[in-house]
Amino acid sequence: MSNDKLSVSLRLVVITLVTCATTLGITLVLGTTKLNSLLGIQPLRSEKASQDKETIGSAQAIFSTVNQRNQVPKKFQGTVVYQGKLKPTEKVIALTFDDGPSPKNTAQILEILQKNNIKGTFFMIGQMVKYFPQVAKQVAADGEVIGNHTWHHSYRHMDIVTAAHEINTTADIIYQTTGVKTTLFRPPGGFLNNGLADYAKSQKYTVIMWSEVSGDAERPSPQVSKMVKNVLKNAKPGAIVLMHDGGGNRSRTVQALPQIIDGLKAQGYKFVTIPELLEIQAQEKNLVTPVSPVLTNHEHPNNQLHR
Ligand SMILES: [Zn+2]
Repeated sequence: MSNDKLSVSLRLVVITLVTCATTLGITLVLGTTKLNSLLGIQPLRSEKASQDKETIGSAQAIFSTVNQRNQVPKKFQGTVVYQGKLKPTEKVIALTFDDGPSPKNTAQILEILQKNNIKGTFFMIGQMVKYFPQVAKQVAADGEVIGNHTWHHSYRHMDIVTAAHEINTTADIIYQTTGVKTTLFRPPGGFLNNGLADYAKSQKYTVIMWSEVSGDAERPSPQVSKMVKNVLKNAKPGAIVLMHDGGGNRSRTVQALPQIIDGLKAQGYKFVTIPELLEIQAQEKNLVTPVSPVLTNHEHPNNQLHR
């Protein structure tokens, strides 16, 4: 090697060493966060989450930024959730809609949510997605969250092969139709012991129950004013409200929803999806709201799919 070439090689080595040392030095002095911001590097989602105190704003920003609106924090995967355990001052509430997509009522509910700039969580039945793919697509296109509610909506006890089929075929058709990979599961009728919830948990789904009901699936269906009252009188921070956009004629739910939204807004509530609710809980340190699940297994006892 000639002196010139040796000199060039040495210079390159020195430059590399100096660059590494400088970067390390700056990192130690500033910390990675400041360095990243100086270099214009976006922090990872979890890193950013821990920095933010404004839980609602940050959760929403995170989801819109990284388009992960269907993801839930890891600590909730494989668990059963009845409601968000939030500080009493954290006035957020999650509206959920089961048994769709249905051709008429789902579209009406989407319109109401859009008008109020609210996102909800829709637990879809696999065969309904098969019958009404355009409605399912619209739910996803509107930015709503989609969960898995089995293919047949059966309450009976089933072995693991059947349970896996119910859940996996539904996950597949939701993904093929909307591009959404579901992470949430709601057992039909809220039954946790017929094999479905166990399989869902084994697949790291978060099993989502509810803490209050509108009563829209009771037989006979309550009056609109009763549905509104049911939700408003039990509203509390972190509540998960059960409603239906399918499984029968849901015109009363459609009529009640604007009043429910207005009433909750008047009480100071903001609306979040289930993943947002769980993200907020994950970020909170003081968990003071006791769990008080509504132990009703009568989501819609006589529900039949008439299609
Ligand atoms: Zn259902």
